[in-house]
Amino acid sequence: MRIVIDDKNNEELSKRHKQNNGTKLNVHIISFDSLSQMSYRRNLPKTVKYFEDTMKGVVLNGYNIVGDGTPQAFLPFLCGKTELEMPDTRKANSNNHYVDEVYPFIWNNYSEKGYVTMYAEDCFDVGTFSYRLNGFKNMPTNHYPRTAYGYVESKFGIAKCIGNEAAHNTWLNYISSYIKAYDKTTPRFALFHHAILSHDDMNLVQVADDDLMNHFKKHFENGDFDNDLVILMADHGNRFAEIRNTHQGQLEERLPFMGIFLPKNFQNTAIGKLYHDNLLKNKDKLSSPFDMHQTLLDILNVPTNKELTTPQLTSKRSLSLFREIPSSRTCFDAGIEKHWCSCMKWENVPNKPFYVQGVKAMANAFINKVNSLTSQERKLCSELKLKKIISSTWLIPKSEMLSYRGAADNDGFVPDLTGEVAIEFADFKIQLQTTPGDAIYDVTINYNFHTNAIVLNMHEVSHINKYGDTPHCIIDKNYFLATYCVCYDTIVNTGN
Ligand SMILES: [Zn+2]
Repeated sequence: MRIVIDDKNNEELSKRHKQNNGTKLNVHIISFDSLSQMSYRRNLPKTVKYFEDTMKGVVLNGYNIVGDGTPQAFLPFLCGKTELEMPDTRKANSNNHYVDEVYPFIWNNYSEKGYVTMYAEDCFDVGTFSYRLNGFKNMPTNHYPRTAYGYVESKFGIAKCIGNEAAHNTWLNYISSYIKAYDKTTPRFALFHHAILSHDDMNLVQVADDDLMNHFKKHFENGDFDNDLVILMADHGNRFAEIRNTHQGQLEERLPFMGIFLPKNFQNTAIGKLYHDNLLKNKDKLSSPFDMHQTLLDILNVPTNKELTTPQLTSKRSLSLFREIPSSRTCFDAGIEKHWCSCMKWENVPNKPFYVQGVKAMANAFINKVNSLTSQERKLCSELKLKKIISSTWLIPKSEMLSYRGAADNDGFVPDLTGEVAIEFADFKIQLQTTPGDAIYDVTINYNFHTNAIVLNMHEVSHINKYGDTPHCIIDKNYFLATYCVCYDTIVNTGN
């Protein structure tokens, strides 16, 4: 498969491009279906390493989906709206619209500014906008390989090989031919969404890691991305029922990979530096596909200097990743419904035997660790025992997420909240008192109910009541142990 250039269209585009006063960056989006950030890291480690370490792409850790499945990921991304906020395009309802008649796809904005456009998917039968929706009436973009994939599927079904070539390499070669065809002549906007390898299998996409990494390497080293915003992404994480029924699976479904690369040339401009600095500030903030829409608009229309240097208002749903996102932003602000929200909250640990035992095991693990630290000074510092647990809280997902089982309707609009996914792991904050010496400690511990594994972070321990004279015998000798040391003579003095 190769790109064929339409010279006449190209002339028209270059006329329009003269009016373009945006960043003039190309937009190059490579997407895989159903891969969480963790799944990308597990299955495509070489690609992710190249993207992060060599290209210095920025991966968004707070990127959270807003709905169930591929259209619910790409409609906010491409149109800035949900399906329900736009006219009906469902096949199930007759007399309604094709998607291109009523959806404001962002590639149209790019086309108006003189960009050549590409929308590519490698699955014909289950196309994002044509499986449940009516599909496009006309070719949506200048390049649109749907008919080619329709032909392949009619001959071979959903094929992992096309002729004697792995299908993902046919795909990558097609992408390369597109980059080459417009080699610095015409600005390009492209979204390549690949599903064959990753949609129905957790791990199969591993076979593409070397090829994908080399694809990035070839183009990056060749300078093909010198003027490109490159987005490496997924629409959502895995949605298999058995994975969704786990705590880990619920988090991964909601947190797909979203990586953004801005070229060095652009970062070296005054505007580009602000874009990149803000992107880094936003790396760990809550973000969503709605934000990607505003982010792409900021490529076409450069915000004012004030907008680039002032935090955005949380009252707006779509915030650009190239302007500062406030830390105070909530899922509600971002248009993320409760059952999709992966933000967590601190709650009291339930007073039930199962949890009480778990908290006790964590408290004892902490005390054992303290005793092992002081054991080298046992002649000076007493061994400690647990006196009591004062309070225990844990950081847990919203109950709506844990009870989300899937969609209750065919369109994915209505959530089925009858599930009961158990919390498998959590961070705990335990406040406890030890004896002798009556020290009170705040301890943060991670506990896995599945494996009973306890991870203690001794750097996050605080001794919150007064030490007084208790560690006087060790303080000059080993300052670090003062937090944990009760000198024997103070035990007599305090009557403990
Ligand atoms: Zn998908």
